[in-house]
Amino acid sequence: MYNKYIRYYLILILFSSSLFSAKVTNEVWKKGLTFEKYLKKHKISKDIINLLDKDDAQLISEINDNRRFYEMIASNGVLLQTLIPIGEELQIHLFRTPKGYKVEILPVAYQKDTYLALLSIKKNPHYDIIKKIKNRRVANEFTKVLKHSINFRAIRKDDKLAIVYDQKMRLGQPIGIPDIKVAMIESHNKKHYVFKHSDGKYYDEEGKELIKKYMGKPLHHIRVTSPFTHRRYHPILHRYKAHLGTDFGAKRGTPILSVADGKVIFSGKMGGYGNVIKIRHADNYITLYAHQSRLKVKIGEIVKIGQVIGYVGSTGRSTGPHLHFGLYKNRRPINPMSMVKFSSKGLLGKDKKSFLRRKRRYTKIINKIFNENRPSYIWNSVRKSLVSPKMKKYYKNRGW
Ligand SMILES: [Zn+2]
Repeated sequence: MYNKYIRYYLILILFSSSLFSAKVTNEVWKKGLTFEKYLKKHKISKDIINLLDKDDAQLISEINDNRRFYEMIASNGVLLQTLIPIGEELQIHLFRTPKGYKVEILPVAYQKDTYLALLSIKKNPHYDIIKKIKNRRVANEFTKVLKHSINFRAIRKDDKLAIVYDQKMRLGQPIGIPDIKVAMIESHNKKHYVFKHSDGKYYDEEGKELIKKYMGKPLHHIRVTSPFTHRRYHPILHRYKAHLGTDFGAKRGTPILSVADGKVIFSGKMGGYGNVIKIRHADNYITLYAHQSRLKVKIGEIVKIGQVIGYVGSTGRSTGPHLHFGLYKNRRPINPMSMVKFSSKGLLGKDKKSFLRRKRRYTKIINKIFNENRPSYIWNSVRKSLVSPKMKKYYKNRGW
């Protein structure tokens, strides 16, 4: 996967070095532009989209307004290739070959590392994390995941905190939001832990859920037919596939419900998603309801939680009636299952067992480092096999 990216990166550099007297420019994806319109602008047949499978054709509808992307144009004005990011994980690669244009979905190359940071608090957690780790987003996420379980005002100087988190790194820079697995504050000699489970939700030490504010269900009865995946390497197709939403199977005409109060910001056709409603909610959440047979609300309308906004259908790239439900936080696609309450119970049975197993592993590591009594400690478990010697040296020089 890494090599593949390097290959395209090299192609880009080669092209740009005036070998073909081509020009690489950094463009901005204009508001309201669709991939179909983009193809038309460059006189490329939109038939190339038809060669994509359903999931990839849907992904093409996910390009954000104002997104920066690369374009390589020959001296005669012909588009040679372009790389358009979708989310933070994937990009559309459109390129010219002797047989015509081709389009594919490529992963954005990054290194995912796990970090463990242990700090003594000097001023306050947020300030100290930024000072030591030099990543404001880690500080923001840490505060966010712990705010329900600890009173930050009660924290004193020399209290301790620990964070285990995954961070994507690209060309030596952190990209995207750090994924906090464990957050802990030791205050008044008591450790307050928060753990992330594989369902994307945060739990306390006993496996009790911490986020209490949930969204409603998009259908009265839900049955998942295809889950959310950011990017997944398909073992048979040998390429990356992603599905930036959850699919729910339902009969044509089943009412679709808004999962929270909000305002309709899109109502109409959207490429592979067919008939779509998009709703903006509080706290920078946006929901998307695709493939509808009939839309019931218009742009600008204020909707309530549970209100019928349309009906299940199979418009756009769809193999049968279903609801594709997308959830976005700060314009990034996130797993809808992490915010929609699907069952009323906490972790049970096998799920609880695996949660407790992971919890024990994490607390063991943290306690071990605590016992070493270091004032502050940042550890990076870069998986050795994934890092080239050159990159390792690069990280080392930066003190990681
Ligand atoms: Zn879907």
